[in-house]
Amino acid sequence: MKSYREELWFQTPSRRDYVNITRKVEECLKKSGIREGLCLVNAMHITASVYINDAESGLIHDYDQWLEKLAPHEPTSQYRHNRTGEDNGDAHLKRQIMGREVVVAVTSGELDFGPWEQIFYGEFDGRRQKRVLVKIIGE
Ligand code: ZN
Repeated sequence: MKSYREELWFQTPSRRDYVNITRKVEECLKKSGIREGLCLVNAMHITASVYINDAESGLIHDYDQWLEKLAPHEPTSQYRHNRTGEDNGDAHLKRQIMGREVVVAVTSGELDFGPWEQIFYGEFDGRRQKRVLVKIIGE
C-alpha cells in the first residue's frame, strides 16, 4: 500500500472565509500516484472546518448567515470560553457544526465525487497561518 501526506497552509484575510480547495487536493492526489484508495482531508485547527458541498456563491453566503445566527461572534462576552482571554468562542461552535474532515474515494486516479461536490476549507477565526492535512492511502 502507498501513502502520501501533505499539509496545505492558509491565511485568510478575514475572520471568516470559505475557500474551495478541490484543485489543491487533486494536485496532492496526482503527486501521490495513487489510483485506487481513500483521501482524507482534515482541518488541523479547532476553529476551522473541511466540508463538502456546492461551489455556489449564494449557498456560501447562506452558510455564513446561518452560522452567524447559530453562534454570533458578537458580543464576545456571551461565551464562557472567551473568559480565557480569547475571542473565538463562536469559531469553535461553527467548526463543530461544519465538521472536521471529509473522506473521498479515489477511483482510477480521480476524486470520486457525486454531482456538484467540492471540498471547502471553512475558516472561522482567520487572519493567521493555519493548516489542512491531506492523507491519501491506496494502490
Ligand atoms: Zn479558543
